[in-house]
Amino acid sequence: MDTPSIPAETPENQENQGSRQLQQMQQQGLLSPANRAALEPVAERFGVAITPHMAGRIDLQNPADPVAAQFVPDARELRLQTGELSDPIGDHRHMPVKGIIHRYPDRVLFTPVHVCPVYCRFCFRREDVGSQPLLSEAELAAALDYIRQDPGIWEVILSGGDPLVLSPRRLQQLLTELRTIDHVKVIRIHTRVPVVSPERVTAELIDVLRTAQPLYIVLHTNHVQEFDEQAVRTCHALADAGLPLLSQTVLLKDINDSADTLETLFRFLIENRIRPYYLHHADQARGTAHFRTTLAEGQAITDELRGRISGLCQPQYVIDIPGGHGKSPAGSNWVSASGNGYRIRDYTGSEHYFADNTAEEVTQTRAKA
Ligand code: SF4
Repeated sequence: MDTPSIPAETPENQENQGSRQLQQMQQQGLLSPANRAALEPVAERFGVAITPHMAGRIDLQNPADPVAAQFVPDARELRLQTGELSDPIGDHRHMPVKGIIHRYPDRVLFTPVHVCPVYCRFCFRREDVGSQPLLSEAELAAALDYIRQDPGIWEVILSGGDPLVLSPRRLQQLLTELRTIDHVKVIRIHTRVPVVSPERVTAELIDVLRTAQPLYIVLHTNHVQEFDEQAVRTCHALADAGLPLLSQTVLLKDINDSADTLETLFRFLIENRIRPYYLHHADQARGTAHFRTTLAEGQAITDELRGRISGLCQPQYVIDIPGGHGKSPAGSNWVSASGNGYRIRDYTGSEHYFADNTAEEVTQTRAKA
């Protein structure tokens, strides 16, 4: 099969598909009949899906299960809060052609596919994914042309949707096209597939990825409970093929918003050769207020982690500035100007004065010589 098994691009089909997914969740014991009926309006508005693999990671006895909370819809998604946006990180402001988001000079996001094997209830692209499965051939050609014509584009980030729902043959075509563009030196793929649908990562797919190096895989994962042995084996197979693995995690209220939970996740990732890269502050997507922490809470958690875990295990805490102004570091300040020097906080919270006189001394030494 060359394309993911996705329905034709019609709102009617999206509604039907959402309804079917709710029914399936009911059969899996994830929803009661009454809940399923109450959630129809959510499924009409946003994509709904969970893979059998991820459904199998849910503890049905736990009403606060961290995997269920990420994928099983909730009526609170219909409550919109002031400040929430349909396009919270301003993708559409930076879309010169369909499927390309060009926010920073040296890299573009390329979204050839807009479906995912699971739909995260907090997704910042929740109003774009699920409803328009794939770019058409003409749209794909225009997107590739855009990349070809800008020699400043050094990196292409395949995102979506989840690019690894494409068949190996389709993905190979795309990667081969990108590899013929001299100025594109690095390819990155953002995906959840190795964890939520590891059976899709076949030897053939790994071969396609391996031959497109340098290619980085950035795994979206938010809780250690998402991993079973098959997912771990899949990540090892990707690493064994020479593909660098990084992770991105969204800070989510009542799912992973504690130093203990994140410490467990980040240690686990490093032990399995996946380098934590970003911890995202949750975006202000519509209907996602129940997932958001405050920035101060995020800073307190990341400050605590600094004193507890190896630097290898620590991602950068970042926030996407609403309106499309890009990502900024969101951690608290460890260094502040003080007199002629700086006050620097150590990992225990104590402050130390640092006299930044090195540059001056070097200048004086040179002058004497
Ligand atoms: S996998 Fe990524 S793009 Fe897909 S629903 Fe989740 S957050 Fe959104």
